[in-house]
Amino acid sequence: MHIINELRNIINNAWNKKTLIILVEGLGGYPLIIPAKTKRSMSLFPSSSTVFLYSLHTNKLPHEHNVWGRYIRDGDSIKDVMEQSQLSKDYFQELSDQGLNVLYFGTKNSLNREEPVFRELKSLSQLYELPDLDLVFVHWDLIDWIGHRYGVGSQAYQQEIETLELTLKRLRKTLQDFDIYVVSDHGMAPSQEKIFLPEINGNVPVGGGRIAFYQVPYEEITKSLSHPGLLVLEPEELSLILGMEPTKEMKESYGETVVVAKKGYGFRFPYYDNRFLYDHGGLSKEERKIIIYKL
Ligand SMILES: [Zn+2]
Repeated sequence: MHIINELRNIINNAWNKKTLIILVEGLGGYPLIIPAKTKRSMSLFPSSSTVFLYSLHTNKLPHEHNVWGRYIRDGDSIKDVMEQSQLSKDYFQELSDQGLNVLYFGTKNSLNREEPVFRELKSLSQLYELPDLDLVFVHWDLIDWIGHRYGVGSQAYQQEIETLELTLKRLRKTLQDFDIYVVSDHGMAPSQEKIFLPEINGNVPVGGGRIAFYQVPYEEITKSLSHPGLLVLEPEELSLILGMEPTKEMKESYGETVVVAKKGYGFRFPYYDNRFLYDHGGLSKEERKIIIYKL
C-alpha cells in the first residue's frame, strides 16, 4: 500500500489514541536502528516531496490534485509550486474543525504555515514536552537536504541519522501516552551525473530532479533525446505506472511524455541548475521504498 493510504489510516488512529507522526523527509527505506515494529510501503509516483506534500495537505491523490512535480506550467511561464503554494483547504485544519486537537510542526519549507494549526519546529527536542493533543504531525526536512547535498551514507548523513535515532528513543520514553510513528515521503538515489534537458519543438520541460514532462509526443522526444542515463516512458508504460490514463490537467500543466533519470543521473533544466549528489522523482525501487516505524 502506498504511503498516503498508510498515513490516512495512521491519522485516523488519532481519534482513539494520542498520536505523534514524524515525517522524516527523504529517509525512504534507510534502516533506522531503533526498537520499533516496521512495515514496508512505497512512495507515490513521482517520488517527490512536492507531490507527497500536496497529497498530504489536500488529502487527495496526485490524479486528483494534479501536482506532479516542483516545476509546473503556468500559461507560457514556469512556476515553482513550493514557492507559490496556495491551498484552498488544508487537511490538518479540516481535522481541527472536526474536533481533533491537532498541531502541525513544520519548517520554513512546509506547504501550509497557517496558524493556529501550524507551529515552527526548530529542533526535534521541542517535542519532549508536548501539550495535551490528539494528533501531532512533524515535518522534519533536514535529512532530505543533507542527503541531496552530501549523499546518503555520507558522514554528515550518518551523523544526522544518529541524532534522529537518539531523539526517537528518548521520545518513546518521555511520551508514554502517545503512539509514535516515523514515516517518510520518499527515498533518494545517486544522481551525480547531470543530463541537460533542452527545449524540444518549442516546449520547455517541467518536473523535478529525476523526472521531467514534455508536451511533445513520445516519438519526437525519443528522436531528440538519446542518452544512456535516461528513459522516455512509452504512453502504455506511463499508464501502467499511473494505474490510469494521464489526466487532462496533467497534460495541460505538465505534459503527456515522461522522461525519467536512471540511477546515477539527474536532470538540469533550462531554468534550474541542479547540483545535488542525490535526488528523487524517478522510478527506482531504492527511492520508492519507504519503511514505516511504530515505536
Ligand atoms: Zn528532497
